[in-house]
Amino acid sequence: MTTTEGETLDSLLARMNELAPGVEHSVSENLCKECQSADLVLVMKLEATDGSLAGAMPKTSARSWPYLRCRGCGRESRGQA
Ligand SMILES: [Zn+2]
Repeated sequence: MTTTEGETLDSLLARMNELAPGVEHSVSENLCKECQSADLVLVMKLEATDGSLAGAMPKTSARSWPYLRCRGCGRESRGQA
């Protein structure tokens, strides 16, 4: 697992479109709401989106979404973006 240097969450989210899915990015200046651990990482996850309404032309695409994961307690929360 690749881990990058610590960066603030705002900074990571500002360039999240450049972040590779599945790579953990250390988040600095943030604490877990559950366990107060500062060992948080941001992970981009690919989520399938169904692009068709009627299903006549099935088109499944994926977009990446930021998740904030705590290494202290394992809590994961979906980003707001
Ligand atoms: Zn935690």
